[in-house]
Amino acid sequence: MPSQNNKSLIYFTGNSLGLQVKKTPKYFKDELDDWAKMGVEGHFKAKTPWVSYHTNFDYMASVVGAKKTEVVLMNTLTANLHFLFVSFFNPTKKKTKILVEKKPFPSDYFVVESQLKFRGLEPKKNIIESKAKDPLCGSTTQDILEAIHKHHKELALVFLGGVNYYSGYVFDMQKIAKACREYNIPFGLDLAHAAGNVSLKLHKWEVDFAAWCSYKYLNAGPGGVGGVFIHKKHHKNTTLNKFTGWWGHTLKSRFEMKQRFDPIPTAESWQLSNAPIMNMVGLKASLEVFKKVGIKNITKQNKELSTYLYQALDKLVKEKNIPLKILTPRSSKNRGAQLSLYFKKQGKVLFDYLEKNGIVADWRHPGVIRVAPVALYNTKTEIDSFVKLIEVFFNHKSKR
Ligand SMILES: *Cc1c(COP(=O)(O)O)cnc(C)c1O
Repeated sequence: MPSQNNKSLIYFTGNSLGLQVKKTPKYFKDELDDWAKMGVEGHFKAKTPWVSYHTNFDYMASVVGAKKTEVVLMNTLTANLHFLFVSFFNPTKKKTKILVEKKPFPSDYFVVESQLKFRGLEPKKNIIESKAKDPLCGSTTQDILEAIHKHHKELALVFLGGVNYYSGYVFDMQKIAKACREYNIPFGLDLAHAAGNVSLKLHKWEVDFAAWCSYKYLNAGPGGVGGVFIHKKHHKNTTLNKFTGWWGHTLKSRFEMKQRFDPIPTAESWQLSNAPIMNMVGLKASLEVFKKVGIKNITKQNKELSTYLYQALDKLVKEKNIPLKILTPRSSKNRGAQLSLYFKKQGKVLFDYLEKNGIVADWRHPGVIRVAPVALYNTKTEIDSFVKLIEVFFNHKSKR
């Protein structure tokens, strides 16, 4: 737990960069030692041989509700989205458009925009940004479903953030996947704010592809390795475009160094390079904790903490007339750990006050404070302290 002047901070930004797992430094040291002792031999003789290092992350599949063969760890999030678009964005004469949520995360938008350009398509004409009744709250599942029904004849892809980064809204991914299937439109997800936060069943929902980062709720450390899901039904489809590299080639004959690509019949065939070991160590340590506690318990507790915070803030708004609107839905079905708090007045002054008093939160224009109390290291007592600080702040204001 990070601290300031020897006092523990209240860390509510696990949705941005999760905290370090206790065993992580030891695991780094193990790899450094094996490298120092063995050099190249470490590929096959290290404690966890590097040639198959990426296959030691079985619990990742449980975290996103996938079969083991559907998940692979490689590269980083935005890079992975580009590789997945190469496979799953296949515009035809009639179907050229991509549906996204209102105001997607900028990196996602840039992926969509540049992939369209790459295929010789005009982004302005081919990006459909879904409607939103309240632009601050963003699109709802209903908005997305309506857009799919309206535009299905021209849609080549539906691509969403499973949990919207700004509002904390959790889409009903199962319903949207079903609608996409009915019209035969590929459906892809960015799960940066969903993986390790909310319950996911990617295989069962028949999502076509997904990608996520491991440094937010998954606590793998800054820039940690990215995760990728590709539904089993696509694994043997040789007509899919794929940008390939030697780590996607079947292991048995990989080192014969021949020029005929023989893909591994799983998500692993999307891998290009040998695994970035030093960038995976943090996730290895973290997934052990996830496995021990259980993803079910974690996602349940994430919701419970945000419900607790929701109720405390509701009470405060009612009793003290505080200018706060919670952008995240009240219904726990559409909410994970994160609440986005919109202060119509005094937002930035309050944010600075909270920061001075040991709260680590996140500020977004034009008055939104995002907080994410997470199951693995936050408590209800910390939530009480946070709510008390808001109350004290506005009490002082009204006295002036
Ligand atoms: C955090 C986040 C990213 C970051 O992408 P990187 O490639 O890991 O830098 C992208 N998209 C969304 C929705 C995010 O929340």
